[in-house]
Amino acid sequence: MPDVFADLVGQDEAVATLRRAAAAAAAVLRHAAGDRTPVPAGNADAGTPAADPGAGMTHAWIFTGPPGSGRSVAARAFAAALQCVYGTGCGECPGCHTTMTGTHADVRLVVPEGLSIGVGEMRALVLRAASTPSGGRWQVVIIEDADRLTEAAGNALLKAVEEPPPRTVFLLCAPSTHPDDISVTIRSRCRVVPLRQPPPAAVAEVLARRDGVAPDVAQWAAAAAQGHVGRARRLARDPEARKRRDAVLAVPRRLTGVGAAFDAASALIEAAEAEAEASVVESDAAERAALETALGAGGTGRGAAGAIRGAAGQLKELEKRQKSRATRAQRDALDRALVDLAGFYRDALTMALRAPVAPVHTDTAEVAAAGAQKWDAEGALRRLEAVLACRAAIEANVKPRIAVEAMMLALWKG
Ligand SMILES: [Zn+2]
Repeated sequence: MPDVFADLVGQDEAVATLRRAAAAAAAVLRHAAGDRTPVPAGNADAGTPAADPGAGMTHAWIFTGPPGSGRSVAARAFAAALQCVYGTGCGECPGCHTTMTGTHADVRLVVPEGLSIGVGEMRALVLRAASTPSGGRWQVVIIEDADRLTEAAGNALLKAVEEPPPRTVFLLCAPSTHPDDISVTIRSRCRVVPLRQPPPAAVAEVLARRDGVAPDVAQWAAAAAQGHVGRARRLARDPEARKRRDAVLAVPRRLTGVGAAFDAASALIEAAEAEAEASVVESDAAERAALETALGAGGTGRGAAGAIRGAAGQLKELEKRQKSRATRAQRDALDRALVDLAGFYRDALTMALRAPVAPVHTDTAEVAAAGAQKWDAEGALRRLEAVLACRAAIEANVKPRIAVEAMMLALWKG
């Protein structure tokens, strides 16, 4: 039976760190319960019965790494190991099981749906995290995309991280510890667990083993996803995702003139919008229906007028949240397309340089080779840079359509 760390692909070092920390955390609990046997792993004074049992345990962690490297997978696995009855993350006990399925009473997961996590949400969370764990182990708060905290929310979190309640653990996930992602003061209070981009072979192995994907498909998907485990899984299993990728990779062939460049820009933007729409439409409708039911839509009688006024406010709030989520989904979809496109020009570049590396997109390798011949290394590099500049511009809040049009023109002109 694989334990809770089994899904962390190609992250041996991080897993070793987390296993040691979980063992130290379990020792802290045993010590608190009156057991005075020496505290093991993670403690510099291990072996000395009088050693501070808290020395190996840290109350705030940051998991960093590129998208798809498994930041939230790692945070969840560590949370499970903290709640594990055996303190190891066995994968079988109720503590592990409820944490992994998202139903543990002492594990809270914050997944920001909009572009940022607000201060109200964070204050409520910090308050609840300070309560005594009902299961007698730890209160764990996982914050996905901690780089999307607003400044005020970050300050609310900082207070809790600076003086953590004795049984509370914060697990933050962010792309990096750059000050743009995580404030320097929060960073200074946290232990960092860096995750690396898993090698394609490791991704292919887990797709084949756990998801039952045929080995050749798994290898293709792992290479095409460029180390992004979730994306590789989608490419291997979802024909729609494959179709969207094919459309993106057809772009370089279609750039035959100015008009074609603008058409390609429109097509790319609209495809991202459609993909985002498809990903949120179901949950939007379900949320709205649930809220309307809760508000007793269409009610009459005493108090109905006041209730309707309150309901209108709540519905408006929901619409605002959903709109923000849709914007985020659109940006994510567009970014995935740009990463695919960057992979294509990177292939052309490595071919022009005759570098002995495997192509990202094996299925467009011939087109990339033709491009390499036509453009030379300099031309391929300029095009790769145009794609990366487009990503950076969108990240810096330039309107996506403008950034993508500029990119398409640069790709056409070279
Ligand atoms: Zn367990």
